[in-house]
Amino acid sequence: MSALDEPLRFDARSLLAAGAPAKVTLVGAGPGDPELLTIKAANALRAAQVVLHDSLVGDGVLDFVPPSAHRIYVGKRAGCHAMSQRAIIELMLQLARAGRPVLRLKGGDPYVFGRGGEEALALAEAGVPFEVIPGISAAQGAAACAGMPLTHRDHARALVFATGHLQGVGDARTVDLDWPMLARPRQTTVIYMGLGALPVICAQLMQHGLPGDTPAATVERATCSDERTIAGTLETLPALARVHGVRSPALIVVGEVVRLRDTLAKTASSISAVVVNADVA
Ligand code: SAH
Repeated sequence: MSALDEPLRFDARSLLAAGAPAKVTLVGAGPGDPELLTIKAANALRAAQVVLHDSLVGDGVLDFVPPSAHRIYVGKRAGCHAMSQRAIIELMLQLARAGRPVLRLKGGDPYVFGRGGEEALALAEAGVPFEVIPGISAAQGAAACAGMPLTHRDHARALVFATGHLQGVGDARTVDLDWPMLARPRQTTVIYMGLGALPVICAQLMQHGLPGDTPAATVERATCSDERTIAGTLETLPALARVHGVRSPALIVVGEVVRLRDTLAKTASSISAVVVNADVA
């Protein structure tokens, strides 16, 4: 029986038998399209023995993992937590201390939201060796695919990533953000996990000084074959998103760069049309 065939054990015997803890590799899975994995991430996936993964946007990413590897789903789907963050960290520590190298696969980049920083800190504090392999974050994937450069000398000289995660319970749920900072002109604001709070976010940005006609968009399942962008303004986007049934995972992009999409998204398709014609000729 090879080491890979061994069942995962966390009993006292396997923990005592272990010497130095094995390494944990926090790997960025990128925004969805498996071709957007880094070469380093793909190599780590191919060599993986135990993979702890979230609910990833791109299923194809897991195809890189050998069939012999243990895959453990620890993410959340449809609002249900498979495991608490504390339990995920405990599991990583137990596996590493039992001498099992762990690949912790996280959507996008491990250090952009998604609590990768907390996991790395816990590993550092526990003295477990770890490595972080960066990934393309959803904002970068969305920008490239939807034709919205995140910065542009004439439109946006600053870029802010924020989380629009609702906090609290029931009617008291709110988004606690630095609204004056997010509403600065000549910047692009990208909000992760903000779909549930889209009306609040748009209203707050207007209350803090951004004009109602400021371009704003949602980008859903960026870089996947079914990616969809809904563009409007701060005034219109909440209704547009509702009418079009925009669903998670999606980003909210606010700023003048959203306008460039009209040209850049079209240019991208017309370039491929020209190439096709040239080939035919
Ligand atoms: N670490 C990730 C973000 C994790 S937070 C990264 O760097 O991308 C999860 C949020 O990311 C989702 O709620 C959504 O807002 C955003 N997200 C992740 N993948 C996405 C995708 N393919 N398209 C649009 N938004 C995405």
